[in-house]
Amino acid sequence: MKCDGFDGLTINPDRSRRIDLHMHSYYSDGRFSPTELLGKCKDSGLEIVSLTDHENVGGIDEALEAGEKLGIKVIPGIEFATEFQGQEHHIIGYFIDRNSQKLKEFLDKLKESKAEQIKEIIKNLQAFGFRVSFEEVASLAKGSLDRYHIVLTILPDHEKTLKGKEEHRDFFKKFLMEKSGGGEGLAFVERKKPDIRLIIDAIHESGGVAFWAHPFWRIKDGSIIRELAATFKKMKLNGIEVLYPYHSKDQSLLLHELGRDLLLYESAGSDFHREDTTIRQLANFQDFGIKINFPFCLKETR
Ligand SMILES: [Zn+2]
Ligand SMILES: [Zn+2]
Repeated sequence: MKCDGFDGLTINPDRSRRIDLHMHSYYSDGRFSPTELLGKCKDSGLEIVSLTDHENVGGIDEALEAGEKLGIKVIPGIEFATEFQGQEHHIIGYFIDRNSQKLKEFLDKLKESKAEQIKEIIKNLQAFGFRVSFEEVASLAKGSLDRYHIVLTILPDHEKTLKGKEEHRDFFKKFLMEKSGGGEGLAFVERKKPDIRLIIDAIHESGGVAFWAHPFWRIKDGSIIRELAATFKKMKLNGIEVLYPYHSKDQSLLLHELGRDLLLYESAGSDFHREDTTIRQLANFQDFGIKINFPFCLKETR
């Protein structure tokens, strides 16, 4: 990976819209293949991106190859759902070694627990009268199995029209989204998530750096975010996602300040999955003039 154009470890604010370090392909719950996704990145004028599929690294080789052809730098990434004191937090690993045997074994275990969760959710949906089977849902997953594959099975045409996209959103909220996430969760079943420490360690063991993704996702109180960031830093967290479509100016500035105070790296990402009804679209985050400090040259300087 070449690091031309960057002043050491920082990126200039006027360039920040050309990076997007958080997106998903059909190797987790995204709509597109890594190749299609990189094509969209090119159309959006992106220069540096990271594929961060949930609990899966299956799309990274394809993304790297597509990136090379299109002149886009691709940073290998992965996103994990973790737990700390009963609360869910997402952690992204950047620069991970996707061929690490240890990581593979770790991901296989997570895959099993996700499959169990999906099986239970499907049972509940069947009780509501939906004609859907685990085999059918599992056959649609290219990498990690997700609730999205249930949507694909029940509403196969949901991408085609705005009405379809709204039906998708409503169905997801009513049946599949947990109450703590704002849904009704009528068919939802909780999955025990690994402790945040375990995930940070697993990322480090596979040569990566660990970032706290969208800190303001479930927590809205800045002082709690501040405390948690300090706690996670003690657990060897390396960075925080500062720029994100749902982060307000105040929230982004607070996270940027935390990056400086706690010596944490900073990242920016859209969390793009598909062209849906959300604002999580490629490169769709505001930078508010913030210069994020991301270790773009990490691998070269080691
Ligand atoms: Zn997330
Ligand atoms: Zn994500």
